[in-house]
Amino acid sequence: MTIDTADFEKIYVSRCVTLRSALEQMDRAGKGLLLLVDEEGCFERTVTDGDLRRELLSGRSLDESLISLPQTRSVTIPETTSRREALEILNNHSVDHLPVVNSKGSVVNLLERKEIDSHILLSTPHMGESEHAFVEEAFRSNWIAPLGPHVDAFENEMAGLIGRSHALAVNSGTAAIHLALRLLGVEQGDRVFCSTLTFVASANPIVYQGATPVFIDSERESWNMCPVALEKAFEAAKVEGWKPKAVIVVNLYGQSADFDAIQAVCDAQEVPIVEDAAESLGGMYKGQASGSFGRLSIFSFNGNKIITTSGGGMLLSDEPALIEQARFLATQARDPAPHYQHSAVGYNYRMSNILAGVGRGQLEALGDRVHARRAVFESYRSGLSDIPEILWMPEPVWSESTRWLTACTIVPTPKIDREKLRLHLAEDLIEARPVWKPMHLQPIYQSAPYYMSGEASVSDELFANGLCLPSGSNLSSQQIDQTIGSIRAAFGR
Ligand SMILES: *Cc1c(COP(=O)(O)O)cnc(C)c1O
Repeated sequence: MTIDTADFEKIYVSRCVTLRSALEQMDRAGKGLLLLVDEEGCFERTVTDGDLRRELLSGRSLDESLISLPQTRSVTIPETTSRREALEILNNHSVDHLPVVNSKGSVVNLLERKEIDSHILLSTPHMGESEHAFVEEAFRSNWIAPLGPHVDAFENEMAGLIGRSHALAVNSGTAAIHLALRLLGVEQGDRVFCSTLTFVASANPIVYQGATPVFIDSERESWNMCPVALEKAFEAAKVEGWKPKAVIVVNLYGQSADFDAIQAVCDAQEVPIVEDAAESLGGMYKGQASGSFGRLSIFSFNGNKIITTSGGGMLLSDEPALIEQARFLATQARDPAPHYQHSAVGYNYRMSNILAGVGRGQLEALGDRVHARRAVFESYRSGLSDIPEILWMPEPVWSESTRWLTACTIVPTPKIDREKLRLHLAEDLIEARPVWKPMHLQPIYQSAPYYMSGEASVSDELFANGLCLPSGSNLSSQQIDQTIGSIRAAFGR
């Protein structure tokens, strides 16, 4: 809780002042209330404009003092009160202000309802200035269908930005991964390697195709797929006499995986890569755009991602034939005939022209969003630099992460650990989440094979101690400061 003491002095009032000067003071301060203090400076009660009005109506003149103001005690809270408790007290007493009082009885902060009656969320949509115009254009021209000029333009803009020749807009990132696996011929009985530390949507499409996932551990340097563990998995497969059909490489929290090392392993085995760049739009690997690696790559425009179409995704490749085939499959695999004819089973996976309009507007602001997310991370890092138990997700020299989510690990001590910190933040109405639960620990994938580089599982440790902090590009500096303050309090600083 930060206070501007000068602001408080403007609303302190004693019983000696006249009603007139109290009204004038209230008018000047513009807070709609005053803090009545006794001779020792101890807080007694709040005085609202209603209180002063009632004094006047009961016949007192403007030149009389506040001496007869009823001696009711206002509800106050101690400095240690969490935001959740404070909100409950506001609601129970039907008040909009809560003075925070220290052990000496002085007011050190004044909580206002509008300030605490909102949760600080992990990552929320951030609309820019031109989305509206693009959507309006779709309505005006009646292009509401899952095709149209915005879809074509969005695909071209994305391909251009990422530096790939072809792109297909679809209705989710999951759909894009599913199409990628289908294009690579993944089918019943096949096996696909996949990063273990990820959101479940990276792996589920493997199962949609009737194939089996094999999970690969993270490296400490980037938290992404470990090339050594990948190589081990390939060796084990060779011994058993099989080869995966594809490798899904995930870029976590805005940071690319180490593609040179991973590509070298996969090239030697002649196995294609699908780059799951759902979380890393705007990021770079050795100066090359995230999403430009692998035979196919995907993005997500889900509501929590760095830019959003409320729901959507993109599949990209440098091979025109792959994207052409994906376009065919994504529109119910309709054969070129005047009637509806199908010789393959397709999907309804296309993005609507309206949502593509939202995407085009969002894309214009991508640079700003990356900048803002990195700035959020820097605020946390500098505001918490004196707490050695907080270790930030590393950013290797070859990576330019977007810091889509600010992620860290908490070195557990008897006093505090990741879970205690998360719960402490939740009490202050701040949403923080554990790092993704690795796929090999998920009930649905418990029996899937899992490969690590050594004896210890890095992803298990990151999951046990990892935390993602509120990271939205639209967080106010006050919300970031509140989060930092809450974390400092949890560590007793
Ligand atoms: C969000 C996400 C997806 C899925 O994208 P949707 O658009 O939500 O289907 C896939 N992989 C990762 C790593 C993600 O974070």
